[in-house]
Amino acid sequence: MAERNPKWTRDELILALNLYFQANPLHTHSKNPKIRALSHFLNELPIHTKRPDKERFRNPNAVYMKLCSFLRLDPNYSGKGLSAGSKLDVEIWKEFASDRDRLARTAWAIRANSRGFASTSEALEEADEKEFPEGKILTKLHRLRETDQRVAKNKKQSVLQSEGALACEICDFDFHRAYGEIGYGFAECHDTTPLAYLRTGIRPKLSELVIVCPNCHCMLHKSQPRLGLSGLRKIVSSKRKSP
Ligand SMILES: [Zn+2]
Ligand SMILES: [Zn+2]
Repeated sequence: MAERNPKWTRDELILALNLYFQANPLHTHSKNPKIRALSHFLNELPIHTKRPDKERFRNPNAVYMKLCSFLRLDPNYSGKGLSAGSKLDVEIWKEFASDRDRLARTAWAIRANSRGFASTSEALEEADEKEFPEGKILTKLHRLRETDQRVAKNKKQSVLQSEGALACEICDFDFHRAYGEIGYGFAECHDTTPLAYLRTGIRPKLSELVIVCPNCHCMLHKSQPRLGLSGLRKIVSSKRKSP
C-alpha cells in the first residue's frame, strides 16, 4: 500500500475552510469547478515536497472530503455519521469560522503570496519555527520582511538618531548598555503588519517595524494565540513586579 500523504497544514485548511463557506459539501460534489480549482492550487503550493501518493494528493475528492470534515464542526449541520477530522481542523474552525472577513482576507493573502515561494519549498517545510495562525506562507513572508537588511538598517538608524539608543520596545533591553561597544547597533526588528495584509515584494514602512531584543521577538512569534506588543509588555512588566 502506498505511503500516506502529509497532513493538511494551516495554509491548506484556511483555503479549504474559506471554500467550505462558498461551496457547502452537502449541496455539491467533487466535480464542482471551485473544488477542482482548489485541488489544482494545492498541488501547486510549495509547502509539501514529499507526496508519496501523488495520484491522490489533494485531488478533487480529497478536497471534497476535507470540506465534509468541517461539517461536524458546523452548528448549522445536524447530521451524523461523519468521520472525525484532525485536531488542526478544529483549531482552524475555532480561529476563523466566526470571522469570515479575516478568513477570506487570509485566504486571499496566502493565494496572492504563494507564488513568490516556488524556490523555497524546503524552507517552508521546516517545522523548527512556530508558525503564525495564518500559516507557513505568510509566516515566511513576515520573516523575510523584518529581516530585510536594508529596511532593518534604516529602521535602526532612524531610531538611533531620534532616541539616541536602541532599546527593546517590549522589555527595554539595550545591547549597547548591557555589553558596551560590541552591542552597539544590535537589535532585531519585528513587523507589526497583520499577516493577512502582507504582499510579496512590498517592503515594510519603518513605522510598521518595532525594535525588539531576540528574546522578546522569539516570544512574540511563539505565543499562541498570538500576543501583540502590548500583551507581551503586560506580561514582562507584571513579572518584574512579582518577586
Ligand atoms: Zn526585549
Ligand atoms: Zn517578527
